[in-house]
Amino acid sequence: MGATDARITTEEESREVAEDAREKEWVGRTCVREMFLGNLPLPLMYPFPLEQAERPEFTQFYNALKNFLRNEVDSKVIDETGEYPEHVVNGLRKLGAFGMKIPKDYEGLGFTVSEYTKVMEMVGSYDGNITALLSAHQSIGVPQPLKLFGTPELKKKYLPRCAKGAISAFALTEPHVGSDPASLSTVAEREGDYFILNGEKLWCTNGTLAELLVVMARDPKTKKISAFVVETDWPGVKVEHRCRFMGLKALGNGVISFKDVKVPVTNVIGEEGKGLKIALITLNTGRLTLPAACAGIGKTCIETVRGWCTERVQWGVPIWKHEALSHRIADMAATTFAMDSVSKLASQMADRGGYDIRLEAAAAKEWNTVRAWELIDQTLQIRGGRGYETERSLIERGEAGIPIERLMRDCRINLIFEGSSEVMHLFMAREAVDKHLQVAGSIIDPKAGMSQKMAAMPKILGFYATWYPPLWLKGIAGRFSYGEWGKLASHMRFVERSCRKLARESFHGMAVYQAKMERKQAFLFRCVDVVMELFTMVATMSHARTLKEKGKPNAEEALQLADLHCRNARRKVEQSFKALWSNDDNNKNKVAASVMKGEQEWLQAGIMGLGLTQEQFRTHAITGNNSRQEEPKRAVAAG
Ligand SMILES: Cc1cc2nc3c(=O)[nH]c(=O)nc-3n(C[C@H](O)[C@H](O)[C@H](O)COP(=O)(O)OP(=O)(O)OC[C@H]3O[C@@H](n4cnc5c(N)ncnc54)[C@H](O)[C@@H]3O)c2cc1C
Repeated sequence: MGATDARITTEEESREVAEDAREKEWVGRTCVREMFLGNLPLPLMYPFPLEQAERPEFTQFYNALKNFLRNEVDSKVIDETGEYPEHVVNGLRKLGAFGMKIPKDYEGLGFTVSEYTKVMEMVGSYDGNITALLSAHQSIGVPQPLKLFGTPELKKKYLPRCAKGAISAFALTEPHVGSDPASLSTVAEREGDYFILNGEKLWCTNGTLAELLVVMARDPKTKKISAFVVETDWPGVKVEHRCRFMGLKALGNGVISFKDVKVPVTNVIGEEGKGLKIALITLNTGRLTLPAACAGIGKTCIETVRGWCTERVQWGVPIWKHEALSHRIADMAATTFAMDSVSKLASQMADRGGYDIRLEAAAAKEWNTVRAWELIDQTLQIRGGRGYETERSLIERGEAGIPIERLMRDCRINLIFEGSSEVMHLFMAREAVDKHLQVAGSIIDPKAGMSQKMAAMPKILGFYATWYPPLWLKGIAGRFSYGEWGKLASHMRFVERSCRKLARESFHGMAVYQAKMERKQAFLFRCVDVVMELFTMVATMSHARTLKEKGKPNAEEALQLADLHCRNARRKVEQSFKALWSNDDNNKNKVAASVMKGEQEWLQAGIMGLGLTQEQFRTHAITGNNSRQEEPKRAVAAG
């Protein structure tokens, strides 16, 4: 097999690879998993971990970075030129921004996760390109997996370099490998003290700037995937192409090829063959960057909308007084408070230790990235034509350069990288049914024989006899509980009831669909949507109540926002529950199949058309056996 040959895998193989990479054990407390099981683990989320007094060295860095961004970083120019100016990258190096999460023992700043995400919220509110540069380096690049899994020698060799500003990147994706790593075809073959690396990686953020890469490659003999630290100046490493995107124009993102690259065996990160697991565990905390950056974006939207709607008068009144806009503004504020609460709570859980935050981080990533996209869309609409106009154009005609157009372009990718929205749903859905699979997996396993199924029965009956009835009975006593939550009490009771209902419904789903459940994405994704809303409700209520109890200024306003967020979330939860059993899923499956069979091709009449053959939709590598695809000739659409 050539290094860059496509390894097309079956669905079963893909699932096996994902299962193999999955952390089977729960190594700490977890809120979202408990919610899936019908419990509300309130003590894990309340009191809300309010920010402690800042450490002076953190404040110094934070203020210095803020001044640097304000004075030295012209985001408009970075966006227009599509490059990071040298003085910006060097300035970030000098400040130590590439070593925020690296321990002091290795010459980094040694920030906690909460300190790091506080910085990334600020950066995210200002410049998407800088956010991506810093985040790709320390959320998924070399420092984080080394910190977690590296040998002392590897840490000593690379962490101080990273802290000083040797930029790093993470290389998993390949032309044929996106969300599903099973078909990974970059190979690492053992030869004595080295692995010989061959293959090609796509869309490696920072790859065109990086000195160091984390590369995922497969041992062709064992088929196992390992993670390697690779230095970009080693012979055989080449940037083949710089990729350009809708937004994040300066991203140093590229296609990188590896031709007989000699990687010392000592550069394997963690255990050989555990590369995907290492990547997933790295992402558990790595994923907390985007929620924070998105909370920063939400706050920028509120600032923009407030300033603009006060000033802009149409039809005789400031535009916020038109109800259509005022309701949106209210929802935007409530949502932003929820994003802030979710991001801070998940970061604090990571810092406190003793939590297994894989689901909380995934929920925070998914919920906040989608909300940020919606908030920018709302802000653009409220800005009217000016929302669609570029910063430069606004400035040139004498208006303020409010960058909503740029923010929107930069923000869209957040729903795709570091786990697309669909993959985040799948990731959480897997855990939603995990307990049922553990207990009753053999019943729904088509490969299990009758004797195996019968043997599993006592365990299954034993579990469900004690687990299921309380999911109905507990609600009877709870009508007046949570009085101490004041006007939020009814929301808290709703969350508690809904956790039980979610557990019942997912169990009913398993009972009805059995082995087919894994293909019932619509059902599973609705369960995930419910749990995410419930999680955000608790985060938001806990935040507001703790602010009140600690006598913080603005506590009343926070309670108002929490109340509105919960009202909105409850409607979404109710809708999702209803749609579990009353929906058009079968209809949609039939129509989708009809579209894909070409039966609805008549609908495409009247367009120019892409003029592509089916073959031209295929993905291709630049190097190796998969030659580059010719620029397709445009042709008039058939039909
Ligand atoms: C700007 C940018 C920066 C990036 N940076 C990096 C980087 O630094 N390192 C790196 O390794 N990669 C990087 N990536 C790759 C990124 O992580 C992938 O784009 C992402 O994982 C999705 O893969 P894909 O684009 O190939 O989509 P595909 O996996 O082909 O998916 C296409 C669509 O199908 C959906 N889908 C796929 N499988 C399922 C399923 N089982 N159920 C339901 N829906 C499904 C997806 O959600 C998506 O909507 C970057 C990409 C971009 C565009």
